[in-house]
Amino acid sequence: MRRRLILAAATTLVAPPARAITRWLGIASFSILADLLQQVAGEQWVVGALVGPEGDAHTHQPRPSDLARLRGATLLLRHGLGFDPWFDRLARSAGGGARLVTATAGITPRAGMGHAHGPGERGAAPDPHVWHDPRLAAACVRAIGAGLELADPSGAAQYAARTIETADRLLALDTWVREQVATVPPERRVVVTAHDAFGYLGAAYGIRFLAPQGLSTSTDPSAAAVAALIRRIRAERITAVFLETSTNPATLRRLAAEAGVTVRGRLYADSLSAPDGPAPTYEAMVRHNLGLLIPAMRGDAA
Ligand code: ZN
Repeated sequence: MRRRLILAAATTLVAPPARAITRWLGIASFSILADLLQQVAGEQWVVGALVGPEGDAHTHQPRPSDLARLRGATLLLRHGLGFDPWFDRLARSAGGGARLVTATAGITPRAGMGHAHGPGERGAAPDPHVWHDPRLAAACVRAIGAGLELADPSGAAQYAARTIETADRLLALDTWVREQVATVPPERRVVVTAHDAFGYLGAAYGIRFLAPQGLSTSTDPSAAAVAALIRRIRAERITAVFLETSTNPATLRRLAAEAGVTVRGRLYADSLSAPDGPAPTYEAMVRHNLGLLIPAMRGDAA
C-alpha cells in the first residue's frame, strides 16, 4: 500500500501533466497583434482580440464586455504609440495579475503626417502603424516573446524558439515584398488610400502613400485636402487608388470618381479579415495587400 502511494507520487513527478492541460488566456487590443501573439504563444494559449477582424481600433469604444474578457487573462498585449490608449485604461480597470506587454517597446516610431497641416508637413504625433513593415512586425514578435517568457517561465524555451522562427518568417516576407516592389518602376510607386496607415510600408520600400485623412480615422478629411489630392491624382496620372476595410469608403469613392480613376480594391490597413477572408493572418494580410498594390501601381488593367 505504502509502496503504491510512493509509485503514484513518483509518476506525477516524472510526468507533470500541468503543461499538457494548462491553457493560458492572452488578450490583445486588436486582431493583427492577436495573430502575432498566437504565432509565438502556441497551442497552450487561447488568444483573443478586443477589436476583431474588420474592426477599427482607432475609434473603438470600450464596452463592459471588454472588461469582462480581460479578467482572467494571463497576458494583455497593447500596441502602444498612441494607437490603443483605451486598452491601457481597460487593463488598469481590470486589475488582477495579468502581465501587460507593449508590442512596440523598443521601436522608434516615425513621425506622422500631421492631418491638421498641409500635405508633406510633419506632425508631432508618432505614426503607430509599424506592422506594415515586416521587419518592425518582427521587432513586435520579439517583444511579445519576451513578455510570454515572463508570463510563463516554464515555457520559456518554447517561446524563445517560436520567437526566432516567427521573426525569421517575417524577415523572409520582407525580402519577398522588396522583390515585388522592384518590379514597379520607381516613378510609378504612388498609392492613394483613405488614411495615413501605410507610412512604414512606404518608408521601407520606397512607395509614396497619399491620403486625404490623417493618421487616425476619427477625423473627417477637409474639403481642401480632398480637392488637393484630386488635382494630384490627375497631374501624376496615379492609377493605384484603394479603399480600406475598416474605414468609411464614401470619401475615397467620391475622390476616385472626381479624379476619373478606378478604385482598385480594399487594402487591409488596421485589421485582419475573418478566418474565411483574404487576410486571416498577418502574413496573409501583407501578401494580400501587395498582391493588389503591385499591379495597380504598374497601371495594369484592373
Ligand atoms: Zn490606422
